[in-house]
Parts: sequence; C-alpha cells; structure tokens
Amino acid sequence: MIKKCEHTGCTKAGTCRAPKSRDLKEYWFFCQEHAAEYNKNWNFYANMTADEIEDDWERQTFGAPLRDKNDANADAADYVKFINDFISGRAEFDKQPPAKKTPGPVSAALTTMGLAPGATWRDIGARYRALAKKYHPDTAKDVKNAATEFTKITNAYDVLKKHFGKK
Ligand SMILES: [Zn+2]
Repeated sequence: MIKKCEHTGCTKAGTCRAPKSRDLKEYWFFCQEHAAEYNKNWNFYANMTADEIEDDWERQTFGAPLRDKNDANADAADYVKFINDFISGRAEFDKQPPAKKTPGPVSAALTTMGLAPGATWRDIGARYRALAKKYHPDTAKDVKNAATEFTKITNAYDVLKKHFGKK
C-alpha cells in the first residue's frame, strides 16, 4: 500500500522517503515535490549545530538571532538617541532666522572699498570720503592709477548706496 505524502495538506502519493532525523531510523514519506523541498532544507541544515540552525531560523524570522537580542536593543537605543539628537538639533537649526545673504555685487563693492562684510552705512561713508580724497583725479595727481581707482571706488560706492537705499 502506498502512503499519502506526509506534507500537511498534500494529497499526492508519498513515494519518496526522507529521513526524519540524522540517525536515519525514521522516515517521512513525501511526494517528489515535497521530498525535494524537505531535502533542500535538510541539506541546508545538515552541517549546522542545533544552535546555528536556531540562529538561522531566528535571523530569517526576526532579522537577527535572538541570542544577540541585548546587543540589538543597545544598537536600537543608540540609534533612537542619534535620531532624537538629530531631530532636536535640526529643530534648533530651523528656529534660527535664515542668514541674511549679502548679494555678490555688494560684498564685491565692500571688498573694493576695503571694508568688512558687516560694514554700516556710516563706515562706508567715512571710507568713501577718505578714499575719494586720496584718489580724486584733481587732488591725486601723484598717485598711480588714481583715476582708475577713483572710478572703481565710486562704482562700489554707488552699489552700496543703492543697497542701503541711499540717494
Ligand atoms: Zn506532497
């Protein structure tokens, strides 16, 4: 008499014998398909210790062997802390007003006049007067490139005047 395949729910004839355990005393009777499936798993685990098989199963089921559960939890706690720090750090960052961007021509003009990026309109006026005196073609006949410098300074001053809304 032919046994039915012992795979749960299978109704095919159990024509293939598969060992239940490594001592080969007991056998399952499977259809070809389920014998092949069983043998695949059998071979896969054949050279593993019980612990290794358990780890593998846990890894497949939980993503990590439960043996390392404490380590995994510590990692997770670190990660949560990192994320929270990141989020709160980010929140602090967002609270700050956006840095006032100095337009390119304005910072170039300040550089031309030898002024720092944070120079006030007063600083600019004082510097312009000093530079204009130094480079004005009428008064700076001895200064090399005075006319060129004066034009550069005046152009820079015009850019800054516009930037500061002065006339
Ligand atoms: Zn079957």
